[in-house]
Amino acid sequence: MKKYIMAFDAGTTSARTIIFDKNADIVSMAQRDLIKHFPKPGYVEEEPEDLWSKQIGTAVEAMIKKDIDPKEIAAIGISNQRETTIVWDKNTGDPIYNAIVWQCKRTADYCEELKNKGYGKMIEDKTGLVIDPYFSATKIRWILENVEGAREKAEKGELLFGTVESYLIYKLTDGEVHITDYTNASRTMLFNINENKWDDELLELFKIPKSMLPEIRNSSEVYGHSKSKYLGCEIPISSAIGDQQSSLFGTASFERGLAKATYGTGAFILMNTGKELVQSKNGLVSTIAWAIDGKITYALEGSIFEAGSAIDFLRDNLRIIDQADDSEYMASKVNDTEDVYFIPAFTGLGAPYWDQYARGAIIGLTASVSKYHIVRAALESLAYLSADVINAMEEDSNTKLKSLKADGGVSKNNFLMSFLSDIVDVEVKRPKLVELTALGACYMAGLSVGFWKDKEELREKTDVDRVFISEMDEETRNKKMKRWHEAIEYSKNWAK
Ligand code: ADP
Repeated sequence: MKKYIMAFDAGTTSARTIIFDKNADIVSMAQRDLIKHFPKPGYVEEEPEDLWSKQIGTAVEAMIKKDIDPKEIAAIGISNQRETTIVWDKNTGDPIYNAIVWQCKRTADYCEELKNKGYGKMIEDKTGLVIDPYFSATKIRWILENVEGAREKAEKGELLFGTVESYLIYKLTDGEVHITDYTNASRTMLFNINENKWDDELLELFKIPKSMLPEIRNSSEVYGHSKSKYLGCEIPISSAIGDQQSSLFGTASFERGLAKATYGTGAFILMNTGKELVQSKNGLVSTIAWAIDGKITYALEGSIFEAGSAIDFLRDNLRIIDQADDSEYMASKVNDTEDVYFIPAFTGLGAPYWDQYARGAIIGLTASVSKYHIVRAALESLAYLSADVINAMEEDSNTKLKSLKADGGVSKNNFLMSFLSDIVDVEVKRPKLVELTALGACYMAGLSVGFWKDKEELREKTDVDRVFISEMDEETRNKKMKRWHEAIEYSKNWAK
């Protein structure tokens, strides 16, 4: 009897495996932190062998902890850190360089050069993305240009590229399957989001031979089976999906107009735009939410650089809170911020501003301002930043947000959730389960092997912990947003 789905949450800081039962409840979990290298300022690398061995290690550990027989596992689903680039030798399966992590800025100069040469619009039209070192294309090019012998090998068809899910599937199948899914492909900057295939012109521009690229498949289908030597028997591998898209699916945001915000160190907001590809005019990126049975669902995405990191700043830099949890009761000790605004632009501003020169600020100080007001202003800033992204999404898609699901470490903060609902003027739902990233991949994997019948069955499983309803009147909301934007202008101009 198949009783479980095994989900790999192949993250940036850790490799985790979670085993879910038919009720989508967690039965077992194991986690190991990954090794990171910072060879130069701005460079971030991980070791492919470390990603692989720890992923499979946690899978075995999760089974052993609860005495789960691998024969009881119906399928494996993978959600992964996106854009991170691995290139390996087709003949030996050995990586020719470390994994270049999405955070790595080594190709910033080349990206600037591309922008200066006027490639911005063409790339945005084709891929839905803005030119940025974040995405995989310039990282692959860097490996081909800088690793000895790589270019010749690639031209001879002897090298393969994949993001993390692609590499893990290759390893699990002993090199039999070299695939990626549409969500991961859409983050490479090599994928044409209008035609839904690899783009020859972009491959030419970045000088990347097509023979390196994986085949693009649905986010939910059986790609192959894990070799029995790894987990004790052959198990179907039946989903692969980028982490942010996975949590959108995990929150059951299946229809157009539904959105989720994950508040971890940074914040990622995704809105389902259904069958329509929406090209943003307001600083968001267009991406693929998932592909099932050849049918593609699109999303708009806005990433905010600072979320939990702003709370960590209060704790570690200003030392006005002892721990992150304190921020909630401290913010609630005062009725408002006394017109103080906190802008956490420590590394510039992300969506929808994309201003790398913006700097952080606390503005509006008077003699009566206390640490409580500053803590409150810091929490409120996360809601204002989210409101900016969500307003841009609504304008781009011409769709009013129906509801917002919020998850991640910072979403435990009730004050913030309530203020978020007020300032965005939307119902905010916080799901009970916090492991939504793994849950999305688990749902996808389960659907493709018939473990669950359809999406409707899954909708019933997503329990809500608490719903926050907007209580702010429009005039107050508009006034606060206006002040916020004045503060943002101040922060944008500081370092110019
Ligand atoms: P990541 O996955 O990016 O590592 P998590 O989802 O684990 O992040 O969230 C961690 C962040 O959440 C930390 O920055 C921490 O300061 C913040 N955090 C945790 N609890 C709270 C809280 N109650 N209020 C505000 N921030 C919180």
